[in-house]
Amino acid sequence: MASVFGRYAPSPTGDLHLGNLRTALLAWAYAKNSGRGFLIRMEDLDERSRPEFVTSQLKDLEALGLTWEGEVIFQSHRIDEYEAAFEHLSSRGLLYECYCTRRELAAITSAPHRPPGSYPGTCRDLSCEEREAGRAKLAGTGRGPALRLRVEGENAPLHIALVDAICGEFTGIVDDLVLRRGDGPFSYNFVSVYDDGVTGVSQVVRGNDLLPSTPRQIYLQECLAMSRPEYVHVPMVMNAEGVRLAKRDGAVTMKELAAYSWTSADIIELLGRSLGFGSVRSAQEFAAALAGENVGSKPWLIDPKELELGPACIRE
Ligand code: GLU
Ligand code: ZN
Repeated sequence: MASVFGRYAPSPTGDLHLGNLRTALLAWAYAKNSGRGFLIRMEDLDERSRPEFVTSQLKDLEALGLTWEGEVIFQSHRIDEYEAAFEHLSSRGLLYECYCTRRELAAITSAPHRPPGSYPGTCRDLSCEEREAGRAKLAGTGRGPALRLRVEGENAPLHIALVDAICGEFTGIVDDLVLRRGDGPFSYNFVSVYDDGVTGVSQVVRGNDLLPSTPRQIYLQECLAMSRPEYVHVPMVMNAEGVRLAKRDGAVTMKELAAYSWTSADIIELLGRSLGFGSVRSAQEFAAALAGENVGSKPWLIDPKELELGPACIRE
């Protein structure tokens, strides 16, 4: 029987902040509570990835007490496999070249009646002459055409519904997603779906900013004959202004919080309290508290200024 895993798949582009740490802890706890193994995958195809962040992120996950199966998976080591899967899709006639520039895409996708960011299939059925013209337009820009997946549905645009363990039923548009960018790299959607499928991931826990992309990912999964994992999209963390938490908001990483006397156990307790748990001080206690609980879909609001008061602030 294929092993079943949960996973946490950070991009090593910075130190993990409280929102990332909370998602990681939840991903681990959901996996443990459902008897799954747990994998860590570094999504390091992003050009902002740095080896020092791989090191610091893994150190922080270890400090929280998370454990994982086998070696950490690095997407940058798997390019040959992605090439083969990509070629296979291409040989089935499922891909086409898109010549749209960034500016053109921004203009099309902000048009009325279209969900924000969705691609209307502008380059899907071009004539040979139009393709020539598209290539000529890109020549000299240093980019080639992007490669998109041709999405066929009875009624265009296609929609796919899913049931998320936290967000409930969600239906979203499936547009012709980019599998390979015009400047060469494979897209996040492609490698993430491919890796989940081939590594036996049957539970995807991640931030709910990715919920709108999930229908597209499911479509690609189906093209690759992979089975659909369970989805658990966890709420974002917002700052005092109701804006998604970012590094500049203050002391939000483990290293920064340590300067205000926060230990790993304190941080686990803080993350637990954000979910309505009592005093949980280890990853195990966090998982035990999560079992049978409902994680609401509301964001966690936090004022990083208060964290500078030290861990006592969570017990007042
Ligand atoms: N690497 C993505 C991120 O850090 C997460 C992707 C995923 O979990 O599917 O936002
Ligand atoms: Zn296009």
